[in-house]
Amino acid sequence: NVMTNMDRAKDADLLARIAPGNDVTARFPVSNPATGAHIADVADMDTEDAARAVRRAKEALPAWAAKTAKERAAILRRWHDLILDNQEALATLLTREQGKPIAEAMGEIVYCASFVEWFAEEGKRAYGDIIPTNAPGRRLLVLRQPIGVVGAITPWNFPVGMVTRKVAPALAAGCTIVLKPAEDTPLSALALAALARDAGFPEGVLEVVTAARAEAVARVLTDSPDVRKLSFTGSTRVGKLLMAQCADTVKKLSLELGGNAPFIVFDDADIDAAVAGAIQSKFRNAGQTCVCANRLFVQAGVADEFAARFAAAVEALPVGDGLAGGNAIGPLINSAAVAKVDGLVRDALAKGAQCVLGGGGHALGGNFYAPTILTGVDSAMEIASAEIFGPVAPIMPFETEEEVIARANDTPYGLAAYFWTRDLGRAWRVAEQLEYGMIGLNEGIISSESAPFGGVKESGIGREGSKYGLDEFLELKYFTMGGL
Ligand code: ADP
Repeated sequence: NVMTNMDRAKDADLLARIAPGNDVTARFPVSNPATGAHIADVADMDTEDAARAVRRAKEALPAWAAKTAKERAAILRRWHDLILDNQEALATLLTREQGKPIAEAMGEIVYCASFVEWFAEEGKRAYGDIIPTNAPGRRLLVLRQPIGVVGAITPWNFPVGMVTRKVAPALAAGCTIVLKPAEDTPLSALALAALARDAGFPEGVLEVVTAARAEAVARVLTDSPDVRKLSFTGSTRVGKLLMAQCADTVKKLSLELGGNAPFIVFDDADIDAAVAGAIQSKFRNAGQTCVCANRLFVQAGVADEFAARFAAAVEALPVGDGLAGGNAIGPLINSAAVAKVDGLVRDALAKGAQCVLGGGGHALGGNFYAPTILTGVDSAMEIASAEIFGPVAPIMPFETEEEVIARANDTPYGLAAYFWTRDLGRAWRVAEQLEYGMIGLNEGIISSESAPFGGVKESGIGREGSKYGLDEFLELKYFTMGGL
């Protein structure tokens, strides 16, 4: 176990500060998906609480927007440092409520802090424009201004990473924000908010609304004319609902939705590297990421070799409680997730897929699912079109480049795609033809604060991270000066 007694004390400290919630009496429980153990109760806020949070964020907006980017950056920088100072305590809390291996949780804290640092700096570069004039005595200018109060709704698979990816650019741009974290993992978000208070963000700049059921409080965010922008990460189903709800107030939207990532291994690939990439891409967070490899297409000439080496690597992955150091795969988030993943596997097996490894619940029981490899998967099986969100790898053979591009694109999703080849011409051809927002060539992990994360088609709208991520929280204002 990597945790020292001091880390545990810090973890208990953080928990004592964030739960139970202050002035709200209703509570809901948060539990550990690995053991079922109760961790804490948090405030189950209602629509009035959400409306109050929006009011506070609205009141805080003018003073926050009026600060210089450098002043905002100084507070963001302190938040970044506090997050890293509390890395182990935050990671422990994250693993307790989410289940991922502690090493991955430690990595997620660094990832989460990196967005705060990045946008603290990037906020200083929200440059406008001066356009060459179209008439004498006139000047044409473009200002970039904070859009206003932002609503953010985040998922449980990256309980801190998804929070700072939205909160940091919003605050850096001069917006204020009301955050509703996922009901399975509210503690990590509350801990980040506690550290934000320590960092010195003014009252109302970051408001957190926790609720056992999302619909009603989310409605307050989508319906309020005071909320000018909604940023959501989660399922395509809920993203579509929110998009419709935002129509009435014509809100600016960022949506990071589901994926159905193809992972393509060509005959000329470095097979060992492709196997290692597939392990990272498929089994990180027990397969519960929106950019996880969802369909492994392997060219016929290397299909058997890849399957054999991949199976050996997967078999070596230790499954168990994320808090015990050394495990590579933790539990799924809850029993509904286990039932969903198992349903996809049952359907594939009933329709003729072969099970190379796993194929059902893990011997540990509870929310643990056995790492699974299926071969002989075809498009008639649900698993070929559904987002799996679990440690299950379906392998599908293919013959030609043209065929695999068509099959890879044959989905309403368009988030991440991966392919493995050493042929430079093919690298460009395939990258340009894949209809995805993010492409990894000979890489299984692509996300970084300095690169634009986001999808096309039904995988979403907008980008997070990078210089483009700031634009999502800024409005262009055209300013013309005449009579000069
Ligand atoms: P997942 O399938 O990954 O749990 P969801 O889209 O259900 O994804 O959840 C992502 C976030 O959306 C969570 O914060 C959840 O509470 C919230 N959410 C779920 N249903 C709704 C809804 N009907 N309206 C608004 N937010 C919702």
